Amino acid sequence: PRVGRVNDCLFCRIVAREIPADVVHETDRTLAFRDVNPQAPTHVLVVPKEHHATAGLLVGADPQLLADVVASAHAVAVQEGLVTDDGAEPGYRLVANTGPAAGQTVHHLHLHVLGGRPLTWPPG
Ligand code: 5GP
Ligand code: ZN
Repeated sequence: PRVGRVNDCLFCRIVAREIPADVVHETDRTLAFRDVNPQAPTHVLVVPKEHHATAGLLVGADPQLLADVVASAHAVAVQEGLVTDDGAEPGYRLVANTGPAAGQTVHHLHLHVLGGRPLTWPPG
């Protein structure tokens, strides 16, 4: 697997601060920034700073890092007022598009944190 920085990867370039992004949360191993084409009032992308293409590859290589990405996503949801640390109201959605059938366009694992409006289950 390609781990570390991948030169032609958009999110590796955002992590390296070569492409600007509206960063809302950062840890030593994760970065969270607003999606350029938001689908909800809160639409944040959370990535591991290391390059891993999918959650399946990441959980095989470094399960703790996948847990760190989920923890960062939860911290973003708290920061955005979507939940309290000990509650689930009003709530939010985490999405990891994986592969072409799901419409994954950036092949560096990212969790979408969506919230701030009622979210319907995909009808399609
Ligand atoms: P995917 O379909 O791969 O899960 O979603 C990739 C997401 O990245 C899309 O929601 C898209 O709007 C977002 N995106 C694409 N290019 C950029 C960019 O340059 N900056 C930011 N912040 N988001 C981007
Ligand atoms: Zn990458």
